[in-house]
Amino acid sequence: MSPSLVFTDSSTSTASRLLPFSRTATPFNAAVSLRRSVGPLNVRPFVLPPLRTLSVNSSNNPSPVINDKSGGEACARVIDGKMVAKQIRDEIAAEVLKMKEAIGVVPGLAVILVGDRKDSATYVRNKKKACESVGINSFEVRLPEDSTEQEVIKFISEFNNDPSVHGILVQLPLPSHMDEQNVLNAVDIVKDVDGFHPLNIGRLAMRGRDPLFVPCTPKGCIELLHRYAVEIKGKRAVVIGRSNIVGMPAALLLQREDATVSIVHSRTKNPEEIVKHADIIISAVGQPNMVRGSWLKPGAVVIDVGINPVEDAKSPRGYKLVGDVCYEEARKVASAVTPVPGGVGPMTIAMLLSNTLSSAKRIHNFQ
Ligand code: NAP
Repeated sequence: MSPSLVFTDSSTSTASRLLPFSRTATPFNAAVSLRRSVGPLNVRPFVLPPLRTLSVNSSNNPSPVINDKSGGEACARVIDGKMVAKQIRDEIAAEVLKMKEAIGVVPGLAVILVGDRKDSATYVRNKKKACESVGINSFEVRLPEDSTEQEVIKFISEFNNDPSVHGILVQLPLPSHMDEQNVLNAVDIVKDVDGFHPLNIGRLAMRGRDPLFVPCTPKGCIELLHRYAVEIKGKRAVVIGRSNIVGMPAALLLQREDATVSIVHSRTKNPEEIVKHADIIISAVGQPNMVRGSWLKPGAVVIDVGINPVEDAKSPRGYKLVGDVCYEEARKVASAVTPVPGGVGPMTIAMLLSNTLSSAKRIHNFQ
């Protein structure tokens, strides 16, 4: 089976209108206009609806839990990732248009999908649709399961050298015969919109250094905290999970925001006790309803990254998606909590679009 290359031009622009790609315009040490440590959204600030300020409790001075339901039962505010992601997409669409009109450049995202995994195909389809919705061009390469690592790297190299591509994403997981590190390392760091390149992660971890891109899911978590005005500085934060793509970068980001961070993982002996002290919890475990209401400090802010299918006879699909955190219990204890679905999930794609726009701006030196 030969690879298929699909090009979606979601704008009226053509490649010939693009400005020449210039590596020198994007030196590795180029100053990156990071908004604090999270990375640039480079879009107009989001105007919050009239919310209460969700300043989380200090460890010694818990603020009251928000009551927003009748019946007097404590009820946390829902952090609406779907709504925030929509706002961000609108902001990005405006910026994409501005860039196109000013310099004739349309940001482009290339996605490489290897194999026949249905979930991966769905993620890629959603990313493509999201690109179209904001006017970003999308390029897609589909390769058969039995492709070689070299074949995948060949496409990455082509995209590295293609001036109409500003972001390259390799959909994970790759088939087991491939070395994921070899493949990810082949992505040019200036187009690493997933932020998984070791140089980007290394810079994220170092004081005084800034990554060119921050991984999308943890960036989305921090963006939600910012947009809901949750104070991070000086707070106790616990990240549950330490994966390269979510838990570890989320902990690094919280640390860069001056939180005091603990990481809980599968070998942690007393997760409940550690979580109980946290003002902010980011959970990325993949265990349905693992974090109970009794684990939470009253007034804590909970960001639930987990997406876990559980049996549900009432659903036509026979299952529903739940998070790592028992949502109903958390709403009675926390001051704010993300739902699953509709919390972090939509933010991940919004951050991918944001990284792609930032990349195009940086490459073309457009403010
Ligand atoms: P992962 O690579 O499997 O990592 C899971 C982490 O959780 C590991 O660090 C593991 O510890 C830890 N862990 C597992 N069981 C635990 C337990 N009982 N107690 C404490 N820690 C435990 O998963 P991931 O890729 O980070 O994804 C995590 C979840 O987030 C999944 O549900 C995934 O579907 C979801 N996700 C959502 C998005 C989104 O956009 N919303 C994006 C990515 C992932 P060890 O390191 O010790 O093994």
